[in-house]
Amino acid sequence: MLGHDLQEELTGFLAAREDELIAFRRDLHAHPELGYHEHRTTSKVALRLAAAGLRPVTMPKGTGLIVDIGDGPAGSPLVALRADLDALPITDEKHVPYRSTVPNACHACGHDVHTTVLLGAGLFLAGQASAGMLPGRVRLIFQPAEEVPGGALDVMAAGGIASVDRIFAVHCDPRLDVGRVGTRTGPITAACDKIRVRVSGPGGHTARPHLTADLVYALGKIVTELPAALSRRVDPRSSLSLVWGRVSAGSAANAIPDGGIAEGTVRCLDDEAWHEAPDMLKALIESVASAYGVIAELNYERNVPPTVNEAVSTAILESAAAAVLGTDSVTPTPQSLGGEDFAWYLESIPGTLARLGTRTPGSAQDFDIHQATFDVDERAIGVGVRLMAASAITALLTGGTAVTDRLPDRARA
Ligand SMILES: [Zn+2]
Ligand SMILES: [Zn+2]
Repeated sequence: MLGHDLQEELTGFLAAREDELIAFRRDLHAHPELGYHEHRTTSKVALRLAAAGLRPVTMPKGTGLIVDIGDGPAGSPLVALRADLDALPITDEKHVPYRSTVPNACHACGHDVHTTVLLGAGLFLAGQASAGMLPGRVRLIFQPAEEVPGGALDVMAAGGIASVDRIFAVHCDPRLDVGRVGTRTGPITAACDKIRVRVSGPGGHTARPHLTADLVYALGKIVTELPAALSRRVDPRSSLSLVWGRVSAGSAANAIPDGGIAEGTVRCLDDEAWHEAPDMLKALIESVASAYGVIAELNYERNVPPTVNEAVSTAILESAAAAVLGTDSVTPTPQSLGGEDFAWYLESIPGTLARLGTRTPGSAQDFDIHQATFDVDERAIGVGVRLMAASAITALLTGGTAVTDRLPDRARA
């Protein structure tokens, strides 16, 4: 079924549906909703899926939805495709007919495209299922709140990936030409956490630092020694980097303050180092603070882990892309320093996130995601539909659990 037949069927499907999908995307683009507020988006998607005979289930918090396609027996392979629904709290600065109609909300990360791609792939796969041609089950996950982030955790808490063998997603890439797909095995996005160090001491006169704890000096030591110590404690390849963004203490030139604060971000390219970072930072901060007689408290705010693409899933997606988009559609993509909450799924099950090219070839415009002028070449929607549908079918044909069991431990951990 893969190869020529599938390619032809997708071409036929898109000939009939591509205009509708583009209009769907423009409607979402004009009505963006922020994380956990995607009510209109959720209902638009649910209505369209229901019109195709599917039975979507809205998630417990009222936004986001999950729908299963195909009625293979329990235990038959189950592959998930995921999109994110939410927009960003920035003002749309484009001059297009589908410009955002909502102040301070804009689909500047392309999640309207992801949602439309998944809807299109779902409609195609539903057609395959009713023709008795779907070799297993496919779950569509339209998750809320990727940017908040945490929508992925809600999906997991609701049991959304409990029996899923493999999961796939795409993300718009404005640096890659439309028609191309960027892939990578291993980490493809980074972790970015926030830390706050609160230092306290007795305070006193600057004439007598020896009788109190010199809090500003101690805070300075923490600020300068922590990044240096980290670089000696972790593998340089994990690129764990701490950068301070705010340091504050005191109010008078001749008074040692009794409190101070330093805030910064911890970025990390490696999953293992990310897991170790909080304990390591806590120990380092305590050792510096105790040397100067101050008390330091660390508040470590976890964001998302790095997204670590699993090898077999990546190979499946690459072969699907080659089959329906052409062998030269696939190109290696570098690891980005951005975060992506798809990472949470990949801590539990194997899967892969690919970059979907959205740049018009030869275009002079230089878009980036999270920019107020971000837009895509809408041909990317058809490309995404082909890629997602073919990846699901390829994964089902490759087999579910049997293959999962043969994966290296790290990919399943
Ligand atoms: Zn984003
Ligand atoms: Zn995004």
